[in-house]
Amino acid sequence: MTEHASSLRIGHGYDLHRLEPLAPEGRGRPFILGGVRLEHSLGPVSHSDGDALYHAVTDALLGALAMPDIGQLFPNTDPRHDNEDSSVYLLEALKRVREAGWTPTNLDCTIILETPKVGPVKLGMRQNIARLLGMDLDRVNVKGKTHEGVDAVGQGLAVEVHVVCLLVKA
Ligand code: MG
Repeated sequence: MTEHASSLRIGHGYDLHRLEPLAPEGRGRPFILGGVRLEHSLGPVSHSDGDALYHAVTDALLGALAMPDIGQLFPNTDPRHDNEDSSVYLLEALKRVREAGWTPTNLDCTIILETPKVGPVKLGMRQNIARLLGMDLDRVNVKGKTHEGVDAVGQGLAVEVHVVCLLVKA
C-alpha cells in the first residue's frame, strides 16, 4: 500500500426514519434534521430525537474506521437514549475517530425528502455539522432531493439520508 492511500479512509452512512403525524395523533416526534427544526405535520418515529442526518454522519465517521456502528453503540432498547439529542452520538463518534488518530476532512450529505423543502434550511444544517465536527463550512455539504413521488419515500412517509465522509491521518 502506498503512503498516500494508507493516510485516507472513506466512510458511508445511511439512515431512514418513518414519518408519522406528530404525537398525540401519531408517533412522530418534532421533525429535527441536521439540528434544524423543520415545520411539518409529520415527524420521525424514533427512540432518540430522530435526527436522521446526524445519525448518518455518525455512521459515516464510525464506518470509515470499521468501528461499531450507531446501533451497536447506542442500542434503541436502552432507555437512557430515549429522546436523546443526536448530537451526543455524533460527538461520541468524533471522539473515537480522534482517539484513533484520524480527523474528518470533508463530508457530502444527501437528504431525500418529499416535503418540506430542504433548500431553505440546508445552510443551517451545514453550520451545525461543521460546528460539531470542528470543520470549516466549505468542507461540509448538504444536498436535498425528492424521490419524485415514487414509493414510500416519494409519498412523504419517510426521510432518507446518505453521507460520505473522508478521514485523514491527524
Ligand atoms: Mg436513525
